Amino acid sequence: MEAMTHLSEAQALKEQKFARFRRLRHSPLLREMVADVILHPSSFILPMFVRDGLGIRQEVPSMPGVYQLSPDQVVQDLKAAEQLGLKAFILFGVLEKKAKDEAGSAAIDPDNIICHTLKIVKNSGVRMIAITDLCFCEYTSHGHCGVLKPASEHSHERIVANDATLERLAQQAVNHARAGADMVAPSAMMDGMVAVVRNALDGEGFPHLPILSYAVKYASAFYGPFRDAADSTPAFGDRCSYQMDGRRHREALLEARADLEQGADILMVKPGLPYLDILRDLRQAFDVPLAAYQVSGEYAMIKAAAQNGWVDEKAVMLESLVSLKRAGADLILTYFAREAVRELV
Ligand SMILES: [Zn+2]
Repeated sequence: MEAMTHLSEAQALKEQKFARFRRLRHSPLLREMVADVILHPSSFILPMFVRDGLGIRQEVPSMPGVYQLSPDQVVQDLKAAEQLGLKAFILFGVLEKKAKDEAGSAAIDPDNIICHTLKIVKNSGVRMIAITDLCFCEYTSHGHCGVLKPASEHSHERIVANDATLERLAQQAVNHARAGADMVAPSAMMDGMVAVVRNALDGEGFPHLPILSYAVKYASAFYGPFRDAADSTPAFGDRCSYQMDGRRHREALLEARADLEQGADILMVKPGLPYLDILRDLRQAFDVPLAAYQVSGEYAMIKAAAQNGWVDEKAVMLESLVSLKRAGADLILTYFAREAVRELV
């Protein structure tokens, strides 16, 4: 009986006309061999939050495993990250309320927390690429990304003034460059921001410094936990008059092209997971390196679900990072950078 079954199975196989995809899924080694989306330690950029002080490690409540650190602790963590194989970090400043004002003056102080930390990091022997975020929301008392002006002549409503903010972004970029930044990342979503930053850097002796532009940045609810981390929640209104609307699809390519023409070296899409299609659009349209920011909300959702035992944290983390890579990201800014690299080795 058994022989007959085998015979008829063999006969059926002979006549089969369908592909056998499962052949290459047969063993872990085979699957590894044919994988064509590969995460590498150099794919990741580690975000760091720095605040004044010494020996401070204050965990961000909505982002378990992410800390506001004093500069000495930043150095300590970067040394460990470098050991793991990470190549780059991006620095965000955290200020006390009393250090903030309407214009975000601390942002363009050449001795501010970012410049101070850059110098310490560069003197510490850490060789990682130091990227700095260029924006004002962490420095303004109102939490918006630039200086304000009345919405119209007789209006009490105030909006962010584009061109007045540009001048200040340029100054911020030059300060960071002088303090040792290896790359700057304008994130304010002001029109023309890449052009003014490029001009300023070129004019002040930094024509070699690349610009990573937050080119396609949506007004997103997924940024919620970051505002905890950076103490940058807007005191009134929202950021919808300068960040992009997720319901406008085609605008993404316009924004990206404009930043390229202004001199951006790397284009970023932010957030990552809810905008994978946009990342793919940019990948197909441009040949420059692309970055995706797996933002705080994406991180917090995975952490929260994992803490409840609802998902397998490592597996979900890696799957989400692979999805960003597969959609077209060369670089991924992620709070999981260290955990991801540990899984790769
Ligand atoms: Zn901002």
